[in-house]
Amino acid sequence: MSSPIILITGATRGIGLAAAKQLVARGAHVIIGSRDASRAEAAAKVVGQGTAWLQLDITEPTSVEAAVQALRRQHGQLDVLVNNAAILLDHYESITKLKPETLRETLETNLIGTLRVTQAMLPLLEKSSAGRIINVSSGAGQLDGEPQPWAPAYSMSKTALNMLTQQLTAGLPDLMVNSMCPGWCRTEMGGSEAPLSADQGADTLVWLALDAPHSLRGNFVKERKIIAW
Ligand code: NDP
Repeated sequence: MSSPIILITGATRGIGLAAAKQLVARGAHVIIGSRDASRAEAAAKVVGQGTAWLQLDITEPTSVEAAVQALRRQHGQLDVLVNNAAILLDHYESITKLKPETLRETLETNLIGTLRVTQAMLPLLEKSSAGRIINVSSGAGQLDGEPQPWAPAYSMSKTALNMLTQQLTAGLPDLMVNSMCPGWCRTEMGGSEAPLSADQGADTLVWLALDAPHSLRGNFVKERKIIAW
């Protein structure tokens, strides 16, 4: 695909914005999604030619529907959907004190919002000759290894997101769907102590969008390698 059409949710900063820059530099046409239209427009200007923007709040059905209509009018198809938007509300909260509202709000964005956008974009993805969905997950959601107490609501949301990846893989045999972990990155979510830049975190995402074989389906990927769920 010479100039794939790629939508990235929550792409006005952090890993989403870094990925947008790298993808555009590789010749992709990137659409930056954001809850805030003016931030989206500003980010698209920063990324430059080959970029467009859409107001897109993944928790709002009317916003998602309007975004689908706009994409259908402008492009008629979507080649890659990057489900990057997420929230982290409970960094150091203990599971023993976790409020149901915090878990509900987290799932509303990280899981249900992602499902909503994905379902809405399917007709456009199915028009692509080789559609791809990339779910930006996290090692925090990994079931492999020792249990760890950090950010219970966020972690549970990413475990559930990984199952969404598996369900989509099973239900959509023509699409390439994967979860990826960017690693701990210096962003608003990751904080200033993280060892990786947002650019480094975006590397596997860009690889999955443009370079990985379409046969790589239904995996959890980090540093361009398959990791345990
Ligand atoms: P940031 O907090 O910097 O960016 C998150 C983006 O998500 C923001 O642009 C935000 O938009 C957007 N967003 C939040 N809620 C919504 C919504 N309802 N609709 C649309 N957009 C929304 O995070 P990062 O760049 O660090 O993280 C990007 C992805 O990487 C996330 O999925 C995160 O879980 C994952 N990740 C990050 C790690 C890290 O160390 N940074 C490690 C592992 C995974 P707005 O500007 O409107 O607030």
